[in-house]
Amino acid sequence: MAKQDYYELLGVERTATIEIIKKSYRKLAMEHHPDRNPGDKAAEAKFREVNEAYDVLKDEQKRAAYDRFGHAAFEQGMGGGGGGFDFATGFADIFDEMFGDMMGGRRGRGGPQRGADLRYNMEITLEEAYHGKKSKITVPSSIACEPCKGSGSKGGAAPKTCTTCRGAGKVRSQQGFFTIERTCPTCNGGGKVISDPCPSCRGSGRTRKEKQLEVTVPPGVEEGTRIRLAGEGEIGGPGAPPGDLYIFLAIQPHRMFQREGANLFMRMPIAMTTAALGGELEVPSIDGGRVKVSIPKGCQNGHRFRLRGKGMTVLRSTARGDLFLEAAVEVPVNLTDKQRKLLEEFEKESDQRTYSPETQGFFDRIKEFVDSLKS
Ligand SMILES: [Zn+2]
Ligand SMILES: [Zn+2]
Repeated sequence: MAKQDYYELLGVERTATIEIIKKSYRKLAMEHHPDRNPGDKAAEAKFREVNEAYDVLKDEQKRAAYDRFGHAAFEQGMGGGGGGFDFATGFADIFDEMFGDMMGGRRGRGGPQRGADLRYNMEITLEEAYHGKKSKITVPSSIACEPCKGSGSKGGAAPKTCTTCRGAGKVRSQQGFFTIERTCPTCNGGGKVISDPCPSCRGSGRTRKEKQLEVTVPPGVEEGTRIRLAGEGEIGGPGAPPGDLYIFLAIQPHRMFQREGANLFMRMPIAMTTAALGGELEVPSIDGGRVKVSIPKGCQNGHRFRLRGKGMTVLRSTARGDLFLEAAVEVPVNLTDKQRKLLEEFEKESDQRTYSPETQGFFDRIKEFVDSLKS
């Protein structure tokens, strides 16, 4: 059976440009696509023929060979590659041609590799974790190589369609009832091969360059919080999406505040006299302001104050943690003579039961203990 002329099959002139050929091919391929004509053998056959024709005419070298020798050009394997048209290739072709941009990584398993994810460690202060922060970071990244415009071919020439998989990036083989699909070993799934690699990137099509990114750290982040910058990782193989960049946050220890989740803790030194007489103190808060704390009369060492809503911000919430203050009553040192005398006066006036509740309790317990030994 004589094969139909490829140009006739696609309904184009022999002088048609690649754009016209492609347009006509798309129309015909959609029309005869098996998904649209389930069980229609004639449509399936037509679909194969159209794909076969397009496979030759879209490739400059194959088209030239076809123009000179007709179908004979491919009958002795002159067109390169292993002869017979692979149905699966045509299928992948269509999707890539029609939906390539839209479907991004459609090739998926066995297809071109998605770019690697990158990790960036960022250290921030507790105040920055409280307020959130915009930060410019510089990350090493791969970008398309300048001289070859990312093609990997010397002078920017378009890479050739891989002849092993005919551009599909994967090859199929039949094993009994099963069809095994795997990444094409010739092009590593890229579907293209480079015959004359670009010397500046050695054919990889990419080069190292630092790039600046703006990172928004939201308020309330914690140690170990990760921020994902989608698509800012390493660039992927041809047609594959890039990886993501993950910012790992570490928070510097603070001189005054200890953080536990949303709550903050602080030791608050109080002069002995303030603790005894009561008063008011001002302490710094994490938001940069100051808060007043009223000290009750007779405030004991270790007493805890809770200031509601004065703790940390909470990620993705309007809630606020609390600030806990622990009283650290200080005993005065380096007394002047007058101070010492005043304290001696004070002691003479003192009644343990009234002024030193813990001390009195302590002596009471000693007495009970000694009495229990006697009896
Ligand atoms: Zn291949
Ligand atoms: Zn290059």
